[in-house]
Amino acid sequence: MGFQELFFRKPKMTLAASQPIPDTHAAESIPDAARVEIDRLLSSGDLFRYTTGETAPVTLLEQEFADMMGTRYALAVSSCSAALFLSLKALGLPPGARVAIPAFTFGAVPSAVVHADCTPVLVECGETYRIDLQDLEAKLDGDIQAILISHMRGHTSDMDAILAMAEARGLPVIEDAAHSLGTLWNGRRIGTLGRIGCFSFQSYKMLNAGEGGMLITDDSEIAARAVIMSGAYEHNWRKHALVGPHFEQWQNRLPLYNTRLGNLSAAVIRPQLAELDRRVRNGRANHDHVAARLNGAPVLSVPAALPQETRAPDSIQFNLVGLDAAQARAFAEAAQARGVTVQVFGLSTDNARAFWNWQFLGEAPDLPKTRAMLMRACDVRLPARLTRAECDAVADALLAAAETVMARAA
Ligand SMILES: *Cc1c(COP(=O)(O)O)cnc(C)c1O
Repeated sequence: MGFQELFFRKPKMTLAASQPIPDTHAAESIPDAARVEIDRLLSSGDLFRYTTGETAPVTLLEQEFADMMGTRYALAVSSCSAALFLSLKALGLPPGARVAIPAFTFGAVPSAVVHADCTPVLVECGETYRIDLQDLEAKLDGDIQAILISHMRGHTSDMDAILAMAEARGLPVIEDAAHSLGTLWNGRRIGTLGRIGCFSFQSYKMLNAGEGGMLITDDSEIAARAVIMSGAYEHNWRKHALVGPHFEQWQNRLPLYNTRLGNLSAAVIRPQLAELDRRVRNGRANHDHVAARLNGAPVLSVPAALPQETRAPDSIQFNLVGLDAAQARAFAEAAQARGVTVQVFGLSTDNARAFWNWQFLGEAPDLPKTRAMLMRACDVRLPARLTRAECDAVADALLAAAETVMARAA
């Protein structure tokens, strides 16, 4: 069996654990309230947000999301990638503008930059999965026109330092908060710190609509431009609940990229907003419990949250300490044999989070720090819905896998 299959095979029953290993890819069911609304939409056929305008589920979702985040504007779109693309477009960056992004992110992020006719400049990330501030500062002095920060897997990069650097140079900051809904930084919501924040409703994020995204901002001009470019053709921007002073002025002056969200998706997301606090609380408790157990093994190390950060994890990342590549592979295989899928970002074939696989950017830059981190960084899903016993079963399997590898090395 190839390594690839090891990663993508469905978890099997375990060798020895008494508590079965949970299927960590299974979703939580959607609240019943969604069914009633979806039935209503199916009966009326009102699936397009601009048919009914201000009472459309998409419009209501935008209002509710903006209220929850405490921002003036929210724009629902088809994905976080679409939100990132529109963010760059809404900033009015010139073609070819250089945009700093962390080198540890999902392949869709540099893709959104390319899609917006900009050039991604990859910045090193360290062992804590966060952007390397020294490398960022060095690269900012090379003609950068915007900073896009992916809080990868919900690990918040030091926003105090980044915002200070950006402000000193007059650069806009976009937050890719796809995996950070519910995370706080100094008590403030992640996604509201930069000029624009982007979120995802893809199934592996905190709110699940299969697909979907949200763009938030307090800036009326950015909101106007993003709304129109998302596909508010003719006067459809008037049907948005959150309309500011700049909307009229951009009429007919911008392309229509049509990245709108549909009412069915909004109907799936809206009743989940009330679940968010519980998911965040449980996800964090699950994570911290498993982290404490894994940190008991000498070869496993879970980076701590930053002091400013209150995290909202739905997965856990840890580093393999002192293991070579063969041992790292053996660890993943031993965990898989016990029913837990471990992705070592840099070791799984064609991983979309390994920057050297982004061949659409041309030749991969030399980023030794990020590369070293990816070769030993493990990723395990840990959804908020797991019980304590299920979390313990996952931790048991990982600890047993670590012991197997250590025993072989001894
Ligand atoms: C999931 C994710 C994305 C992409 O979100 P889509 O809604 O699937 O486009 C981008 N960045 C990060 C950090 C993500 O986790």
